[in-house]
Order: sequence, then structure tokens, then C-alpha cells
Amino acid sequence: MTISVKVMRRPEPGETSYLRATLRGMALTFKHLVNPKKVTVEYPEERPDLSPRWRGTHVMETHADGRPKCVACGLCPTVCPANCIRLVGGEDDMGNRYPLVYEIDEFRCIFCGMCQEVCPVEAIHVGVHFENAEYTRDRFVYDLDRLMAQEHPSTLLWDPSDGASE
Ligand code: SF4
Ligand code: SF4
Repeated sequence: MTISVKVMRRPEPGETSYLRATLRGMALTFKHLVNPKKVTVEYPEERPDLSPRWRGTHVMETHADGRPKCVACGLCPTVCPANCIRLVGGEDDMGNRYPLVYEIDEFRCIFCGMCQEVCPVEAIHVGVHFENAEYTRDRFVYDLDRLMAQEHPSTLLWDPSDGASE
């Protein structure tokens, strides 16, 4: 079997000009400089318009008296594929369950939204929020107080049977 080899001839110095390619590149740059259909957002001066289905930093819903809505059923840490929810449940004198410890490691979370889907009392939600930068890893572990203090809106998860969530 013969192997064919294509020999490329290198242009000699003086046979090539980069001027045409440079001008073409500059023309493209200037075209986008004045392009009215801008695709970039000048963050942070300009805020991006996030979809209501954006899945970001969690929010724990609270009752009017400030208690968390979580009833420590254990479903969200069970279903979480990233194993990033830590729950220690407690029970009051009336037999009502509540979270003694509830933490989410936002660094390990993959924002799948399954905790929100599975929660029977709609307590935990992923949120429409993305600005989550910290100097140390441990700051990404949100405890119950911090989750309850989040003020951004909750995510609207897609429900195929609900036309309103389209
Ligand atoms: S969004 Fe998914 S990965 Fe993140 S805490 Fe909830 S279940 Fe776990
Ligand atoms: S699924 Fe809801 S009620 Fe159950 S432990 Fe998670 S947040 Fe609490």
C-alpha cells in the first residue's frame, strides 16, 4: 500500500501580506462596535435579565412568624444527587418536626432543582440569583438563617401540566 503525501510549499518572505487579513479583521471589529443588536451586557452597571426559571442560590421560605417552612421530612437530602444538603431534624412538644440544622453547600450543588420539586411543603427553592462569590469555601455552606434571609425570587420550575409555567 502506498501512502500519498501532499507537500505544502511555504510561501517565501515577501510573497505573503497580512495586510488584507488585518483589514478584514478590523472591519469585522468595527462592524460589531456600531452593531445596534448588541449581545453583551455591561455588567455590573447593567443587570442581566434572568429567566424566571433560572436556578441559582437557594431560598428557604418562612411562615409569617419567621419560622422556616421546612418540616424536616428528609426528602430533599435523600433526593439530592450532589449530596450537599445536611439536615438534622427536631420535634417540638406538639410533635411538629422542624430543622435543627439545615445547610446547603452551594459550592457542591448542581442546581438541578430536585430539592424544590420534592419538598412537600414548598419550603426550599432554588432562586433567581447568580452572584455567589466568596473568598473561602466554607462561606458557600449556607445555614438555615442565611437561607431564610435570601431576598431574591424563587425559581419557577417548569411543570409540563401547567401552561402558566411555560
Ligand atoms: S438543587 Fe439539586 S444539587 Fe442542589 S441542593 Fe437541590 S437537589 Fe441538591
Ligand atoms: S423536602 Fe422540604 S420539608 Fe423536607 S427536609 Fe427538605 S426542605 Fe424540609
